[in-house]
Amino acid sequence: MRVYNFSPGPSTLPLPVLERAAAEMSDVNGSGQSVMEMSHRSKDFKPIIEKTEALLRELMGIPPSYRVLFLQGGASLQFSMIPLNLGAGEWGNPKKTASYIETGIWAKKAADEAAKYVDCAVRASSKDKAYTYIPPFPAPNPADAYCHLTLNNTIVGTKWPAVPETGAVPLAADISSCILSEALDVSKFGILYAGAQKNLGPAGTTVVIIREDLIGHAPPWVPALLRYDLHAEEGSMYNTPPCYGIYIIGLVLEWLKAQGGVAGIAKINAEKARFFYDYLDNSRIFYSPVEKSSRSIMNIPFVPRETDADRRKDLETRFVREAAASGLINLAGHRLVGGMRASIYNAMPLEGVQALVDFMRKFEKTR
Ligand SMILES: *Cc1c(COP(=O)(O)O)cnc(C)c1O
Repeated sequence: MRVYNFSPGPSTLPLPVLERAAAEMSDVNGSGQSVMEMSHRSKDFKPIIEKTEALLRELMGIPPSYRVLFLQGGASLQFSMIPLNLGAGEWGNPKKTASYIETGIWAKKAADEAAKYVDCAVRASSKDKAYTYIPPFPAPNPADAYCHLTLNNTIVGTKWPAVPETGAVPLAADISSCILSEALDVSKFGILYAGAQKNLGPAGTTVVIIREDLIGHAPPWVPALLRYDLHAEEGSMYNTPPCYGIYIIGLVLEWLKAQGGVAGIAKINAEKARFFYDYLDNSRIFYSPVEKSSRSIMNIPFVPRETDADRRKDLETRFVREAAASGLINLAGHRLVGGMRASIYNAMPLEGVQALVDFMRKFEKTR
């Protein structure tokens, strides 16, 4: 039996995608081979990677002046690659400044890593209130190589309500947990990146969307595999790309297109989030710790109203255990923040959210 999986990542995938992958496991497109077995440079794999890129371009409306790269190393490697390619100077020395906005644990990790390679300034932060809101965006610093933000904060469950204007300063954004969840104007960004395992496919592939003029600025000492120029020149095939992941992303994108594309899924996502927040805002025992104007529609943390630490811990443990026994799994909050969290990415149907709310209503009655 399939469960409703609320994991923040790796996370649930559409069942039709899994079933198609299973059906094609040992023979894809009449090639007599699995995607895992074929050469990445073969005539059999070429249409797979080309289809995946074309669908991503179509669904996201990616302008021709942007390159799409399929890389490895997760979103976390982009924390290093962005500063190394856009602002690093001579070995061990920054060449340029960059601004970072600290809206959560991933955003902080990105800034900490960047500080090794660029002159990095954290220009706004919501740490004072445990990252439960999105701070005002600072005036862009025209000298910056780029400004970095995390569009949706997976752990604390906040998202930027609008994309900030940065003028001539390229905006770099981590969209790991919100890619393709609702419309996004790619032309407002210099570089976008996402680990696949939240909203796109299996872990192991990272999608990078980068404006062409930002490619080619890495100093010579930057290692080959960390250079956007090499990956772009070689069409993501400088070395073996994560072939199977790219194939599954292609299937997910086909599924997404059949849902009415981004506009179609955005409507369903809005409905799922509204339904869940409506319940939370009226719950006697749970609440959302996030400021209303900053709420994520993908990751929704919730915590007991109970203030006694022991009783609260008890309630959380019991909730997560009983939910799992009812087929609603992975609802524990992040290990650093506690509480509970429901991640309701594109592949989570409205019925899954309804099942969770039904369970929470019943759970509430037993208290
Ligand atoms: C999950 C996540 C990451 C880390 O991704 P990896 O692929 O494990 O490196 C970074 N940023 C955000 C916003 C995430 O949700």
